[in-house]
Amino acid sequence: MSDGTGMSGGLGGTDAERAARRDQAVRAAVEQGLLGPDAPIVGLLDVAGIRESAAALRAAFEAVTAPGTSVLHAFAVKATPLVPVLRLLDEEGIGAEVASPGELALARAAGVPPERTVLDSPAKTPQELREALALGIAVNADNPQELDRIDAIVRSAPSGSPLGIRVNPQVGGGSIEALSTATATSKFGVALRDEGAREWVVRAYLDRPWLTRLHAHTGSQGIPLTLMAEGVRETYALAEEINERAGRRQVDTLDIGGGLPVNFTSEATTPTYAEYARVLRETVPGLFDGRYGLVTEFGRSLLAKHGTVVARVEYAKSAGGRAVAVTHAGVQVATRTVYAPGAWPLRIAAYDGKGRPKEGPAVVQDVAGPACFAGDLLAVGRSLPLLEQGDYAAALDTGAYYFAHHYAYNSLARPAVHGFAADGSGGVAFAVVREAQSVEEIVAEAGGAQASALTENLPRGGRTGS
Ligand SMILES: *Cc1c(COP(=O)(O)O)cnc(C)c1O
Repeated sequence: MSDGTGMSGGLGGTDAERAARRDQAVRAAVEQGLLGPDAPIVGLLDVAGIRESAAALRAAFEAVTAPGTSVLHAFAVKATPLVPVLRLLDEEGIGAEVASPGELALARAAGVPPERTVLDSPAKTPQELREALALGIAVNADNPQELDRIDAIVRSAPSGSPLGIRVNPQVGGGSIEALSTATATSKFGVALRDEGAREWVVRAYLDRPWLTRLHAHTGSQGIPLTLMAEGVRETYALAEEINERAGRRQVDTLDIGGGLPVNFTSEATTPTYAEYARVLRETVPGLFDGRYGLVTEFGRSLLAKHGTVVARVEYAKSAGGRAVAVTHAGVQVATRTVYAPGAWPLRIAAYDGKGRPKEGPAVVQDVAGPACFAGDLLAVGRSLPLLEQGDYAAALDTGAYYFAHHYAYNSLARPAVHGFAADGSGGVAFAVVREAQSVEEIVAEAGGAQASALTENLPRGGRTGS
């Protein structure tokens, strides 16, 4: 794997520029005091990079769709559930795919309009469904029981929500089982190849003229493009079958999900949206001829490469002949990497105490986090310039599913997240996206106001039962 210091041969212009912006931002964060002895960890988001990815996504689909095709790119909010990020994407023409009441609230707080919001979760309560249909948000029913609930709501009050069913094309899994949603036994959607399932889906549409969408999400990180495209082809074929049997274009929009994988091993953005769009057009040409509107739900690929966790090296030590840098970034910000390092390796970049890229011979070392268990390691046996006390270690490509997904082990505080952009005069400007969590907030969230709940607020003594 790459040493994570960027600038390798053959890097495309935008990738090299992004790496240069990141270096500048780390330096500026130290100079401006966002990082230092009393602020030992921070998340940074590259606003220009996020805008570039949004533009690349739009352009990739514009290049393959017939003129006038309606295309909604709905960002999978779970990838980076931060309101200012959703607002930024909304400004870039990207809507929101939400999967819980919390995510819906974030999208609404960001001002994402209902007509550019899609609700997809596998466990929606009746109240959530009523709210979504009252707002006119698109909903994909996960299963027959959920469709029953939607039936009841639609009967009681007509809804402007575009409604569909999520199917599992069962085309198989990728290299990460936990993120493969189109396996035979996946918990998501209606398993299309199960006995009788396809006929049930077709009948469900024929019986309900208001079902106009069809949804599938074949999986996330670790799914090859060809498998993703196969999932879309199966979904398209089902829509064609429904429409043929209905004798009209009942299904008018296909929601093809997200899941473009991210390259975590080097700076290069691969695969690109343009490549995926080309694979889709080759595999499912009919999808792009203008008969269907499209919804996409990309998450990780829009944000991952634009986020960086930077953590101060509190102590540098040696154990059993191994150099170990004890930093402030560990399981609380890189949960998947710490618990499943084989599936989720992260590049680490070394910076000196002034935030400058660290020079010097590569030394094999461990980059450890602050949590109290031995496995709290961001990287094991990694070759990097030797990290010393007061240096900074940066975990790269962490803009999605990392620092935005705090794990409260050891009551470690959620770090601040800052967006950055060029200030127009050669420097870097920062804006707070999320304040660091304070210890007072940690106490409050840990039942601080209910301190006597167990000692005074319950009857003492007496046996249970009679
Ligand atoms: C997680 C998820 C996505 C986004 O996946 P990424 O790998 O982040 O692109 C899209 N749609 C659904 C239904 C999801 O569950």
